[in-house]
Amino acid sequence: MKLSGKTLISEKDIRKRVRQIAKAVAAGTPRGAPLSVLALMDGAFMFCADLVRQLPMPVRLAMVPLPSVRRGGAPARIPLPPEFPARGADLLIVEDILDSGQTLAALRDHLRLLEPARIRLAVLLDKPVRREVDLTPDFACFQVPDRWVVGYGLDWRGLYRNLPYITWVEP
Ligand code: 5GP
Ligand code: MG
Repeated sequence: MKLSGKTLISEKDIRKRVRQIAKAVAAGTPRGAPLSVLALMDGAFMFCADLVRQLPMPVRLAMVPLPSVRRGGAPARIPLPPEFPARGADLLIVEDILDSGQTLAALRDHLRLLEPARIRLAVLLDKPVRREVDLTPDFACFQVPDRWVVGYGLDWRGLYRNLPYITWVEP
């Protein structure tokens, strides 16, 4: 596999779109009410850092490790920190990419048992052609084709998370 050498989504387009998504999140949140942001590591680290900086409300942030179900991740055992109570919270899950949807569907089902006031889902990227479960993100920055995309937090075998733009790897 090697980097395509082409830019799928530029740094500038990401910056602009993240700002728009932050506005949409804020518009749907009661003024002054706190928001509990649950960012899934490692893929969402850059998106989350940029998104929360654009949010006007008081944010409670938990960054929790959650590999995809395919990579052995177990959403039912997600380690929520004690200072991040889920019950009654206005939860925003922040994830890098929605692919089959298995990981986020399992996480959502688990979090519902903890009785948050509501759960919204913000993803940087959405690959709708790959969906296997009935799950639509409340916020998605970009739709992408069925390629292995990397950069802006997303990896290929641990590499390329640092790229400030999004590209893909080729066989
Ligand atoms: P799902 O359970 O939706 O199939 O898995 C989603 C997870 O798989 C994402 O959080 C991400 O970790 C990984 N994934 C799916 N597609 C891609 C991709 O194109 N590039 C990268 N880097 N990760 C992906
Ligand atoms: Mg992920």
